[in-house]
Amino acid sequence: MKSLNRVQISLKALAHNFNLCRQQAGGADVLAMVKADAYGHGMVECARVFADQGAKALGVAEVREGIALRRSGCTLPVYVFAGVIPQTLSAFFQHRLTPVAVDLAIAEALSREAVKRGREIELHLKMDAGMGRQGTLPASFAHFYTRVHKLPGVRIAGIMAHFPMSEDRSTNSSVELLKLFTQTLERLDPPLPPDCCRHLANSGGILYVPGAGLDMVRPGIALYGCYPDGIPGRAAAGDRELQPVMRFVSQVIQVREVPRGTGIGYGHTFVTQRPTTIAVLPVGYEDGYLRALSTKAAVLIRGQRVPVIGRISMNLTLVDITGMDTVMPGDEAVLLGGQGEGEITADEVAGWMNTISYEVLCLFGNLNRREFVA
Ligand SMILES: *Cc1c(COP(=O)(O)O)cnc(C)c1O
Repeated sequence: MKSLNRVQISLKALAHNFNLCRQQAGGADVLAMVKADAYGHGMVECARVFADQGAKALGVAEVREGIALRRSGCTLPVYVFAGVIPQTLSAFFQHRLTPVAVDLAIAEALSREAVKRGREIELHLKMDAGMGRQGTLPASFAHFYTRVHKLPGVRIAGIMAHFPMSEDRSTNSSVELLKLFTQTLERLDPPLPPDCCRHLANSGGILYVPGAGLDMVRPGIALYGCYPDGIPGRAAAGDRELQPVMRFVSQVIQVREVPRGTGIGYGHTFVTQRPTTIAVLPVGYEDGYLRALSTKAAVLIRGQRVPVIGRISMNLTLVDITGMDTVMPGDEAVLLGGQGEGEITADEVAGWMNTISYEVLCLFGNLNRREFVA
């Protein structure tokens, strides 16, 4: 039997957001980031939508995700941004995955593997132009590039970096990073061939940093309908907006009346101040509806916003529906997304959880049954 909760993924909204990112990218190719099971939205299904809409490539963190895409029949280039380590190198050849090399040692290991197989492999080099996480620093990058250029069996098809704070529309740091990246690339020896793909922009870069599109962009969160800083609207006003993609839906399984002064749930953190009507929802922290949401969150029932009361438990959540006489078991309860005129956004849930939309989408999406809707 299926769970009483599910996430619904709008394929139309995914396509809309992809096209909005492409428009905003100023002619650059689009690599769609589908790591973490497409931020909880289902990697294989989302990859199909993005491929149909004209994505040039897909991006994942680990090799196993790339292999899953290949097994689903995906033929687009698949870039692996994190797990390129000696133990995974053979998979790049077997499954035609594109490695991102962070330093000379891994590029050399790829070269040895390629020579051993009598093959050539295209790789991308990662510059750490300010993220402080992975990659080679700008000061050593020219040396890295020159050395990799001479290695047999590998061809430098692209060079990338990553923005640490492109979601901050007020900082100048992204513009500085863009300048550092492009200037470092201008001084390489031998010079970058014209077909070498320079890519830098995540969603924040695409939406808020003019000129960051370069040859290719790598949107993630924007494809899934959220603004990187949680605030709707873009620097370029008057354009179409991103559309939310995910709904997280439960249902009322019981409606009950309790008198004034009733302690609600574990720890009695909420005590009713009046005769209260409660709707019981079969969802809890097991489903990613975290305990941190207790007494903070609201849900939509019959288009109306109602508060969560008391502690969320492993499998049950209680909401106060006093005065809503028509609510019945079986009614839809929306924890994320729209219902009627109402809407609960991922950023709102993130605020209640003291985190960002990315985490909310991964959590709800990856713990619940998915349903794809046109
Ligand atoms: C996740 C990721 C992105 C996408 O970032 P968003 O902020 O979700 O747009 C882009 N590039 C790399 C290398 C990433 O790991």
